[in-house]
Amino acid sequence: MKEYDLVIGLEIHAEVNTNTKVFCSCKNSFGEEPNTNCCPGCLGLPGSLPVLNKKAVEYTVKTGLCLGCEISPLSVFERKNYFYPDLSKAYQISQLVKPLCLGGGLELDSGKFIRLNRIHLEEDAGKLIHKTKTIGTLVDNNRGGIPLMELVTEPDISSASEAVEFLDKLRRTLIYAGVANCKMEQGGMRCDVNLSIKEKGSSKLGTRTEMKNLNSFKMVTRAIEYETKRQIEEIEAGNKIIQQTRKWDDNKGKSYAMRSKENSNDYRYFPDPDLLTVTISKQSIEEIRKSIPELAKDRIIKYTEQYNLPEYDARILTNEKFISDYFDQCLKLTNRPKQLSNWIMTQILKVLKDNPCEDLNEIINAENLVAIVDMLEQKEITRPNANELFNILCFSNLKAKAVAKEKGMLVTLNDEELENFVDEVLKNFADALKDYSRTPEKVIMFFTGKVMALSKGQANPLKTQGLLKNKIPNIIKE
Ligand code: ADP
Ligand code: MG
Ligand code: ZN
Repeated sequence: MKEYDLVIGLEIHAEVNTNTKVFCSCKNSFGEEPNTNCCPGCLGLPGSLPVLNKKAVEYTVKTGLCLGCEISPLSVFERKNYFYPDLSKAYQISQLVKPLCLGGGLELDSGKFIRLNRIHLEEDAGKLIHKTKTIGTLVDNNRGGIPLMELVTEPDISSASEAVEFLDKLRRTLIYAGVANCKMEQGGMRCDVNLSIKEKGSSKLGTRTEMKNLNSFKMVTRAIEYETKRQIEEIEAGNKIIQQTRKWDDNKGKSYAMRSKENSNDYRYFPDPDLLTVTISKQSIEEIRKSIPELAKDRIIKYTEQYNLPEYDARILTNEKFISDYFDQCLKLTNRPKQLSNWIMTQILKVLKDNPCEDLNEIINAENLVAIVDMLEQKEITRPNANELFNILCFSNLKAKAVAKEKGMLVTLNDEELENFVDEVLKNFADALKDYSRTPEKVIMFFTGKVMALSKGQANPLKTQGLLKNKIPNIIKE
């Protein structure tokens, strides 16, 4: 068998995180009753006119700036004409000739750069819900008109693992930038895989197929592996690859042909006469650039250089924005980055695995984690007790200190340790002894306070007073 190179280009759709839809004022939300979140505009009823959502443009431009794209000063919305029941207008407002962003890309860990061709803004279509044979297929138009960014890569990707790494990095960038939530299980990020093979080392690209709407990394991997094998088998059997759109069936683990591949001129794109050309000034680009928050890569630098965390920790903590946000929140309460990182990476992420959530405060609030870390560092609690305390506090409203006290988890001093503290205090503040004959009670109270402070509250005050009463007269006699 000959050796082959795999060539992959991705088209990624990400729903933009605006409050309202892209051309009307319906809410941009997921999970509403079917067909309750639409209006004449997003249903495409005659006479309705689109009004462009400025935020959607801003977020797409922000994405472009995060990915090193060139921002087009002039950008045009076009009608992509097709008939399909998920889009009652019979055209989708999209961009072809003049998209908002051009070029850019993302670097993989290996140093390989995956180029982007473009990012454009368009409207999402409704959702078809396939019921039983007798009921047929139903249309839910709620999704219609939700702003959708389409990011198209150059065919630079050469394996399933590169494809997944690219998608993972892209997803993280969009989430940190705050432009998209990328909830793949809700269809918030979907990906089409264009794939071809060629003889190893050849510079001529083969004919590609396109697999549509893959919405998990696992699906992307399986679809790529299947399609690679299928194309190699076709070629080895002396057949030609037909350029076509294929549907991946994740249950069967197979893809099958849907239609022969359409070209952009099949859609008869033309500028939407209801929408103006979008102009973006240099000044507004700079304003959007300034609004880009800290991205994962910035936080990795902060964690390794400012907090001296190992790169390994920094990567795990920044893997999801909500984890990194929680870590930052804890760090504001106690300056112990490595200890916090250890607790998050081992204990909390273990709990997270079985209890998915989007805010680690739901597992254990930052104040409680910080209290455990501080108590442990100050030796007020032993390691096994700290672990037990952690388990008690998970998913509870209790307070760390109160539970530790109530359960008797705090370290208490043995007699010898207490005596050492008393001796130390008597030595350090020997001056105060001269008042003893005049105001003994006051002096005892003074030393008791010092012992409490030195022992970080672990000393028993009554025992301390007893010891002081025995010791002081002896010292004075000497
Ligand atoms: P469309 O799918 O709308 O016709 P393009 O022709 O621009 O759009 O290509 C879409 C995607 O297909 C891009 O991600 C591109 O990198 C990828 N692609 C183009 N040619 C090939 C090929 N020979 N093998 C694999 N991917 C390809
Ligand atoms: Mg395509
Ligand atoms: Zn609407």
